[in-house]
Amino acid sequence: MGELGGFKKYERKQEINAAVTDRVKNYDEFTSPLSIAEQQKQGSRCMDCGIPFCHSGCPLGNLIPDFNDMVHQGEWKKALEILHSTNNFPEFTGRLCPAPCEKACVLGIIDEPVAIENIEKYIIEKGFQEGWIKVKKPEKRTGKTVAIIGSGPAGLAAAQQLNRAGHSVTVFERDDRIGGLLRYGIPNFKLEKKIIDRRLVILEAEGITFKTNVNVGVNYDVAKLKQFDAVLLAGGATMARSIPIPGNDAKGVVQAMDFLTRQTKALFNKKEEKNVISAEGKDVIVIGGGDTGSDCVGTSNRHGAKSVTNFEIMPKPPMVRSESTPWPFWPLQLKTSTSHEEGCDRNWLVNTKEFIKNEKGELTALRTVEVSWKTIPGQRPQLIEKEGSEKVWPCDLALLALGFTGPEKTLPEQLGLKLDMRGNVNASTSDYATNVSGIFTAGDMRRGQSLIVWAISEGRQAAHHIDAFLMGSSRLPLKDNNDLLSA
Ligand SMILES: Cc1cc2nc3c(=O)[nH]c(=O)nc-3n(C[C@H](O)[C@H](O)[C@H](O)COP(=O)(O)OP(=O)(O)OC[C@H]3O[C@@H](n4cnc5c(N)ncnc54)[C@H](O)[C@@H]3O)c2cc1C
Repeated sequence: MGELGGFKKYERKQEINAAVTDRVKNYDEFTSPLSIAEQQKQGSRCMDCGIPFCHSGCPLGNLIPDFNDMVHQGEWKKALEILHSTNNFPEFTGRLCPAPCEKACVLGIIDEPVAIENIEKYIIEKGFQEGWIKVKKPEKRTGKTVAIIGSGPAGLAAAQQLNRAGHSVTVFERDDRIGGLLRYGIPNFKLEKKIIDRRLVILEAEGITFKTNVNVGVNYDVAKLKQFDAVLLAGGATMARSIPIPGNDAKGVVQAMDFLTRQTKALFNKKEEKNVISAEGKDVIVIGGGDTGSDCVGTSNRHGAKSVTNFEIMPKPPMVRSESTPWPFWPLQLKTSTSHEEGCDRNWLVNTKEFIKNEKGELTALRTVEVSWKTIPGQRPQLIEKEGSEKVWPCDLALLALGFTGPEKTLPEQLGLKLDMRGNVNASTSDYATNVSGIFTAGDMRRGQSLIVWAISEGRQAAHHIDAFLMGSSRLPLKDNNDLLSA
């Protein structure tokens, strides 16, 4: 496994990002790969630990040391087979995953962890370049039909798995294109949309049916779902959190998803450019310091904003892993994205109190206050405002990136589904089944706003249980049993 002492010889290296001044000129991805020889060295940094904690760090249970070793040996096709055996879409996770596997890498205790995410990306990219990613139709059809509602990573992973098991799968998507948040939430500079399209060509050729502009429960009667033998709800958690403070109806206070979606749609279709909410020449304030906020920062800089400021209500995380989250846990630690690097004034412990507007109802400024958090044992932390810390920030465009409260309720209500305490569709990970027989759920709709890697993992797990429901048993892999029917 790896090269004996490879981790001592070679330092961690990752793909190269284009200079900020160049990359903000367009919306394209901006990375260049390392040479093949260097990528193989990166694979050889894997230490073949007794217990590879990276496996358990990864929600998909990716067999990381195994594919690292194949890369080290130049056996890229074998590496691809190993990678695909647990992950339907490494091209998405290899670009977008926050890589909990790297945070759990044993090498990370004493040195920089193995560059697992990059290795994954270049295995799959080589696979596409070499024509190794082939259409795999099921040998026979079972005669069973499955409807999947929602075409995000959870729906797509489940669709591919169920199709492999021989079921006839139809994916319904209310948007005009397939992909869920991969398509219109995540900006092109993080994921060019041709990456989704090249995978869709394969999924369609394998026999999956896609129906766009179908909003189940709105322009498609839920009663029609009865014609399917099983239904998977993978509609995401798209209810954006608002901010109930004075002035929030001002022109210029915009939900982040509205801002991001319109920009990406315009890149597909010139006609939609008129719908773009432009940040050009504006003082932009992004409220919310997560992934969505970071994507708004990157997009605002590409529009040519006059200034980009980011508020976060929580304290600034430590620069290095906090003691409260020791290895191999996901660390509480400051994350600086490539979008942040492109220019952004980041502020923590700031609460917005008012959107100030002019007589035309246009946003002109934000009034804020500094805060701190008081911890009281057994209670939720309390937000304390710092006296005399009020500040007014000039602002023409405020982007609300405050997270999501859960899935939309129309469909669960029409289908009579129970929700959990957090308002997500209730189903346990033991079978992903809802309270209505034959209806299953996975991804953000079940677990709340999360990550692509979790959505793919949940889609795969749910597919196994749907297959078992339809056939009495299933050979589709579960996370800890990936050696059965794999990619
Ligand atoms: C701006 C942004 C950036 C992000 N960046 C990252 C990142 O860098 N890395 C990462 O790991 N995660 C990221 N995430 C989170 C990640 O995108 C989600 O966790 C993931 O997409 C969830 O997948 P899903 O399949 O459950 O749902 P979604 O991707 O939300 O897909 C659900 C789909 O269902 C459709 N749908 C809903 N209801 C119906 C209906 N009634 N009829 C038909 N269709 C319906 C929706 O239109 C949508 O297309 C980001 C999220 C956002 C908002």
